[in-house]
Amino acid sequence: MHRIVFAFPVLEQHLNAVDRTPQVYRPVACVHCGCSDVWCHGRYHRKADRSAAGALNPIPVLRFRCRTCSRTCSRLPLCIAPHRWYNWADQQRVLLLLLAGCSQRRASAIFALGRHTVRRWWQRLGERSLSFEFHLRSRFGELGRSVDITEFWLRCLQRMPLCEAMAWLDGDGVCVP
Ligand SMILES: [Zn+2]
Repeated sequence: MHRIVFAFPVLEQHLNAVDRTPQVYRPVACVHCGCSDVWCHGRYHRKADRSAAGALNPIPVLRFRCRTCSRTCSRLPLCIAPHRWYNWADQQRVLLLLLAGCSQRRASAIFALGRHTVRRWWQRLGERSLSFEFHLRSRFGELGRSVDITEFWLRCLQRMPLCEAMAWLDGDGVCVP
């Protein structure tokens, strides 16, 4: 939680920021104890460039350490999704197709994704949606009441991309995705 920084939807922007303005990733307070004495504590690398060549991999992710409680946290840009190798934009394309009524089998074929992956994303959204909807509606009143999960997410994704919705949720302390 509080892992996602509300910036850098494109990997190149993230790489540039890591090199030139790493302070934009520094949390104002420790996510564990709330203390403000948080400092950069190196970086780890992960795969995040999903292009065919994957030339930007491995992608550095900055880590921070609290001087009071000694715990660490890492901070992700909008272009990298926590826990998932696919970025938010890829996930959004698949979810939109499923919300429009496409079958999981067809969606996995269209995007050349494993059926398990598509099923997992869809199930996870179903499991978490009530909590997600509650928090997003609290912030964005215009999302209003929806008759079902489909209507809510179609409206939400028209209002903002999935990466932004997830960043707001993360900022509210909700575990995403
Ligand atoms: Zn702390």
